[in-house]
Amino acid sequence: MENAVVRLEGVSKVYLRGEGEVAALAEVDLTVGEGEFLVLSGPSGCGKSTLLHIMGAMDAPSAGRVFLRGRELSGLDDAALSRIRREEVGFIYQFFNLLPTMTARENVALPLILQKRDRGEVRRLADAALARLGLEGRAGHLPRELSGGEMQRVAIARAVVSRPSLILADEPTGNLDSRLGGEVVETLSELCREEGFTVVLATHAPELLARATRSVRMLDGRLLDGAA
Ligand code: ADP
Ligand code: MG
Repeated sequence: MENAVVRLEGVSKVYLRGEGEVAALAEVDLTVGEGEFLVLSGPSGCGKSTLLHIMGAMDAPSAGRVFLRGRELSGLDDAALSRIRREEVGFIYQFFNLLPTMTARENVALPLILQKRDRGEVRRLADAALARLGLEGRAGHLPRELSGGEMQRVAIARAVVSRPSLILADEPTGNLDSRLGGEVVETLSELCREEGFTVVLATHAPELLARATRSVRMLDGRLLDGAA
C-alpha cells in the first residue's frame, strides 16, 4: 500500500509470565492506509491491546517489523521512539486517562506543550480541538466536573490536537453506555471522513463494526480476516 500509515510484517509478541510464556501475537501482517477507520475486534485476551501498543511504538515486538509512515521502528533508540509517540500517535483509552488536577483545556494542550509549541499556538489549537468536539463550554472544567461522555470527548480532543498520523483507540466505549459509546464511534468516524485522520479502534463489542471502513477479527493472537 503506497500510502500506508502503519505496516506490520510478521509481528509476534511473547510475554514472560512466571516460569512460562504467553504468545500474545503470532505472525501478524497488517497494513493500515491513510484515512482508514479500522476496527479490530475479538474477545478479551486475544491480543488487541498488545497490537495497538506495538503500532504506537509503546511496546516492541518479539519478532517481526513495524513501519510507521514508512520508517522502521526497530533499532530506534528510546529518544527517537518517544519522539514518534509524541508526534505521530494519539492514544484514546477506555478509562480516559485525563490528568485529574488539570482542566479540560490543559489536558488537551498537553501533547502540544510536550512538543514545545509556542503558547499562543497551544491555546489556539487546544481551543479549536475542544470546539471540534463540542466542548467549548467545558474548557475550564476539571475532569471530575464532566460526564463520562464529555471526559471521553476531551480525551479524543487530546488525541487529535496535534494532528498525529495515527489515532489508536483501545476499547474507547468500554466505560460508556451504548448511546454515548455510539457517539464516540460516530465522532471518530467523522474525524476520519472529514479531516483525514487514520484510526485503529480495538473493541470486544461487535456492534461497533458498523462504522468501520474495514474490520479485522482477532482470535488467539492472530488476525482472522480482512487483514490484507
Ligand atoms: P486484549 O486487549 O485483546 O484483551 P491483550 O493484548 O491485553 O488482549 O493480551 C493478550 C494476551 O497477552 C493475554 O493472554 C494477556 O494475558 C497477555 N498479556 C498482556 N499483557 C501482558 C503482560 N504485560 N505480561 C504478561 N502477559 C500479558
Ligand atoms: Mg485490551
